[in-house]
Amino acid sequence: MASEKPSTLEGLNPEGFLTLDLRNPEAAAREAARFAVRFPIDAVVGVDDDSTVPAAAVARALGLPANPVEAAMAAVHKPSMRERLARAGVSQPTYHLFDRAAKPEAVARRIGYPCVVKPTYLAASRGVIRVDDPEAFVLAWRRIERILEDPEVRAKGGLWSREILVEDYLAGPEVALEGLLRDGELTTLALFDKPDPLEGPYFEETIYVTPSRLPPGLQERIARAAAAAAAAIGLVRGPIHAELRLPDGEPAVIEVAGRSIGGLCSRTLRFGTGLSLEELILRDALSLPIPPGDRARAAAGVMMIPIPKAGRLEEVAGVEEARRVEGIEDVVISAHAGDRVAPPPEGWRYLGFLFSRGETPAEAEAALRRAFALLRISIRDGNGVSRN
Ligand code: ADP
Repeated sequence: MASEKPSTLEGLNPEGFLTLDLRNPEAAAREAARFAVRFPIDAVVGVDDDSTVPAAAVARALGLPANPVEAAMAAVHKPSMRERLARAGVSQPTYHLFDRAAKPEAVARRIGYPCVVKPTYLAASRGVIRVDDPEAFVLAWRRIERILEDPEVRAKGGLWSREILVEDYLAGPEVALEGLLRDGELTTLALFDKPDPLEGPYFEETIYVTPSRLPPGLQERIARAAAAAAAAIGLVRGPIHAELRLPDGEPAVIEVAGRSIGGLCSRTLRFGTGLSLEELILRDALSLPIPPGDRARAAAGVMMIPIPKAGRLEEVAGVEEARRVEGIEDVVISAHAGDRVAPPPEGWRYLGFLFSRGETPAEAEAALRRAFALLRISIRDGNGVSRN
């Protein structure tokens, strides 16, 4: 287990933990190679957007099969991804990349509306804003600049923090595809519908439900679009998480990440005889046999609990009642009382997660909505405490 902060258990279990500078993939690769002399490594799997590039660099240094470092990089840098998709003719929004030194008032006159303005390397919809006219564009640009000036965000992005990406807004429903690449061949592990409309101006994720209720033929075309996108980016191995929209009913790629689904959302998935997504990914990386059997049949859903407003979290009440709702498997509140919380575009975390199962996707979705309605979220801001 390699991470950027030393684990308190490192001294007790030196072969189990390794501290790496994830912002410097080459240094991380050298460090991991030294470690691997004493403690051999069989496979390397990045778990999030911060670790996929160093994971590819470490695997390359160790001579292990992995995605090319440049592909892993293109999957986290949106303009590089767009360029590769464009070259391969994959359906996606048209886009324009700008330097933050540009004057937003001038840029606002050159682009079309509605459009989506975003940083080029952040995740969880952080800084992603839909705008419908030039005035809103200038405000969004300034708001994104403030996010990019945050010292942490700047340090993470380096030169990328100088960029702002503008894309055509693609209307229509959105889906997420969880897949596994083996020698460039994509297997779909799950296709999630996102039943709440994501129309902006900010794009907070809420409900994911699987299996998808879309017609099988369309699901097939979505999988083909995701596979074409992964191939265009150069991803060939391991998990992918792809977001696609269906403008005019056909798939267009919002993005493809070279990692599995984030947060605790993977808990919705069980494979074969109860394997978790993480076990499946590790078994695949180690070329271990994967027990036969399809994904568990029942429909499943997860809701990333949205943050009603920015402030300090006082409490989330009603968790026990929410847990008792039929079809609810678990309620996990991951934020702590006293935490500063904010919805997107500034925030990028959730309050927690609701998990459900049902005979049908509609049942799994309804359980999430019933349980969410029982949660009472108290947040204190300059105007006092308010409850949702
Ligand atoms: P992140 O990597 O932070 O998740 P994305 O580029 O995937 O950023 O955008 C987050 C969400 O914003 C998407 O899931 C989608 O709902 C919405 N979005 C982003 N770009 C577009 C676009 N060009 N058209 C329509 N919606 C978009």
